[in-house]
Amino acid sequence: MNTGRVVFVGAGPGAADLITVRGARALAAAEVVLFDALTDPALRDLAPNAKWIDVGKRGFCDSTAQTAINAKLVKYGSSQQVVRLKGGDPSVFGRLEEELLALHEAKIACEVVPGVTAAIAAAALTQRPLTRRGTGRSVSLTTAMTREGDLQAARSADTEVFYMAGRQLPVLSRKLLEAGWAAETPICVVSRAGCADQIASDHMVASLAAAALLHRGRPAVVTVGAGAKALIPVHSAAQKPAKSLGLDMPHGSNRAIPV
Ligand code: SAH
Repeated sequence: MNTGRVVFVGAGPGAADLITVRGARALAAAEVVLFDALTDPALRDLAPNAKWIDVGKRGFCDSTAQTAINAKLVKYGSSQQVVRLKGGDPSVFGRLEEELLALHEAKIACEVVPGVTAAIAAAALTQRPLTRRGTGRSVSLTTAMTREGDLQAARSADTEVFYMAGRQLPVLSRKLLEAGWAAETPICVVSRAGCADQIASDHMVASLAAAALLHRGRPAVVTVGAGAKALIPVHSAAQKPAKSLGLDMPHGSNRAIPV
């Protein structure tokens, strides 16, 4: 008879205070926390007495690591109060399916607490509504990477938000043009959304490659279409030029947004 329980908690995208109250309560009650690489270390204060175990991994090729994570969930979850802490929202590109199935198979009770996914955080923190009356009626959360490591892009919604595309922005630009997006369609790239060092920049589909240097090595979401359009005029005095970040960004369509 299993006496334990696993609560999947979405930690939000960066700053620890973006976690939900329910998520924080689950952490406070946890004996064991299995956490990912992308979660904020400050979250540890919410469960100072729990045993924290790093199970972070990245990419598709890590099926062994996924099996090991499933095994740990079952091991601890059978007798202890476990929080499985995931970056953003557990249901969005978070391998929730595999982990829930493993726990269901082992007959361990589970709960899922939602979190703020990176696309939503990027929209909020750059003040760009993801839906727009009349022009932005649909939003798609898309991973650019396929299991085979190819990059795919489509035009399936008025606003398309790409996850896991940060390393391949030049290819994404080309694939977006091939998929029928106009060259001048606005794109907003936000890396480390919600963190103190968040960077956001404006581009167009045809010039997205220029974002690569600015966001290199940082988790980023790429918002394309209606929801990427800036509400603040481009040449507003409040805009901080990309150069002030110490980066050699071309002026014009590519600019960093103060955050
Ligand atoms: N479950 C997460 C997504 C995990 S997949 C969520 O809901 O947000 C990992 C991808 O998420 C990264 O490659 C990046 O595209 C995006 N991501 C995660 N954290 C981010 C952040 N703070 N800022 C921008 N993008 C982020």
